[in-house]
Amino acid sequence: MRQPFVRCVLAASAFAAAPVFAADPVTALYCANLVDTAAGKVLGAHTVVVEGRRIREVKPGRVAVDGAKTVDLPGATCLPGLMDMHTHLTSETSRDSYAEGFRLNDADIAFKSGVFAERTLLAGFTTVRDLGDTDGVSISLRNAVNQGLLKGPRIFTAGKSIASTGGHGDPTNGARHGLLPDPGPDDGVVNSVDDARKAVRARYKDGSDLIKITATGGVLSYAKSSDNPQFTIEEVKAIVDTAKDYGFIVAAHAHGKEGMRRAILGGVTSIEHGTYMDAELFPLMKKNGTWYVPTISAGTFVSEKASAEPDYYPAIVRPKALAIGPKIKGTAGAAYKAGVKIAFGTDAAVFPHGQNAREFELMVEAGMPAMFTLQAATTHAAELLGVSADLGTLEAGKYADVVAVPGNPVDDITAMKRVSFVMKDGVVYKSL
Ligand SMILES: [Zn+2]
Repeated sequence: MRQPFVRCVLAASAFAAAPVFAADPVTALYCANLVDTAAGKVLGAHTVVVEGRRIREVKPGRVAVDGAKTVDLPGATCLPGLMDMHTHLTSETSRDSYAEGFRLNDADIAFKSGVFAERTLLAGFTTVRDLGDTDGVSISLRNAVNQGLLKGPRIFTAGKSIASTGGHGDPTNGARHGLLPDPGPDDGVVNSVDDARKAVRARYKDGSDLIKITATGGVLSYAKSSDNPQFTIEEVKAIVDTAKDYGFIVAAHAHGKEGMRRAILGGVTSIEHGTYMDAELFPLMKKNGTWYVPTISAGTFVSEKASAEPDYYPAIVRPKALAIGPKIKGTAGAAYKAGVKIAFGTDAAVFPHGQNAREFELMVEAGMPAMFTLQAATTHAAELLGVSADLGTLEAGKYADVVAVPGNPVDDITAMKRVSFVMKDGVVYKSL
């Protein structure tokens, strides 16, 4: 039986835990180089002065700061904390993933999520979007990180993604008929405009920060199509309009053109993956100001895995991985050339958490300049999230999210995989 509400509140406040991680009052970071992500320039030596959770000032050269704890970063380039706009912190695919859905309890998922969050932070990603979780665990994870109980990035989460019956994100796909109850809007499965509105409001009730829809089929779902449209345009519009009432942006997973077209016209904020986006859709993206989050890492990983280990994915998934995976890099390069707005995102969970920085290399291979990829993961991501006042650049007044890599990442983008220093909210989590 549930305890009376008042008793629960009293118990929670009596045992409120103190944060484990706290910032020093004032810290001076001595960087050999500093990336000005707003101007798109690598500058020389700078001192970043951090007070509490924010940056107090950024000064050229090595400047003595009275009473500050000092951190020397010789030979390193400082950047704003990296931002991955597409992760799933409550899962990680493996040969076992499809069976795990029937075996793991929320507590099992929660403990794993804590490990994935810490790996992500130590790889330099101080802010992420979580675009679809299991049983609302990402919401509890976000709260635990914000309370200073766990090491993890700043999380903006969609909670459960919104799908249609049988679509990518229907949590009962692949299960024997009758084994699981038919999911509805509370579970993120909709089949009408009314359902669509209710699903958005249910995410608000859960404590989500934004909305994720699966506008087309997907690769890893236990279903045949990777790219068919899975919402009517009226359903997309109902989701977007309702989301606006709650201050939510909407991210749309989409591989196929028709589902993507409906999502763009329906007013979503970003298209995720965008595999079959082409010269017909690039102008529509630009006209509507829609962001593109390519996730080349995920496409590359699933195609490599499906080729190297034919039994890694179920038989219904493998052909989709081989068809979709290799195409995303080419699409990302073409979208960049066409001038589509691009923000950094990986789909971490499809590959092991903590390997997010491979995306930088893949974006460069796709034809994007190294500096553009750094901006995609800082200024662009902050703009997509609507948090540019607080994040995305190293400037006075912004949150003290600072990472450092050896050498100059514009000369060697693989340096992004060797993050040597991580500060988030003024707290140092990694310092080699
Ligand atoms: Zn995803």
